[in-house]
Amino acid sequence: MNPPVGQRKLRLATTSLAGCFGCHMSLLDIDERLFELLDRVDLDRSPLTDIKRCGPCDIGLIEGGICNAENVHVLREFRQQCKVLIALGACAVNGGLPAQRNHLDLGQCLQEVYRTGPGIVGGQVPNDPELPLPLNQVHPVHEIVRIDYFIPGCPPSGDAIWKFLTDLLDGRTPRLGHPLLHFD
Ligand code: SF4
Repeated sequence: MNPPVGQRKLRLATTSLAGCFGCHMSLLDIDERLFELLDRVDLDRSPLTDIKRCGPCDIGLIEGGICNAENVHVLREFRQQCKVLIALGACAVNGGLPAQRNHLDLGQCLQEVYRTGPGIVGGQVPNDPELPLPLNQVHPVHEIVRIDYFIPGCPPSGDAIWKFLTDLLDGRTPRLGHPLLHFD
């Protein structure tokens, strides 16, 4: 349904940081409701658009935790530009599966992956300055910036994302409730 005359469409930005894009696939799982969503919001920076920097937005969806310096930069940009910032999925909420590397030594991991692992001959750890530096640990997004809402799940279902977004767009406090709320 189009917004009432005179009421501007809201702007929605999305990003994937240390994520697997599964949460974005779940967003696409709202299927034909995507048309309704796009009647109500314009997309800003997102893997679904070609916009390179986040402009002023009403809602920002963050998939993925924080594993490198570029993730920190993008997350801060989203916090600056988005009125409401949402941690979408387990990785953003608590670091998720990628945070399992937190009990390992980062240097040793890089050596094993790029130099000493099976089948690697003459490899070296990439050190081009273009590459973002990895952080010693993977962090949930709330350890870097203030987060307004958290949607758990790996990934949250399309129905959960739809319920959450429509609550927000309709001006209600978002409530998932059982059975839309899950952590796996
Ligand atoms: S929460 Fe799950 S689906 Fe979402 S980015 Fe992390 S691993 Fe992928």
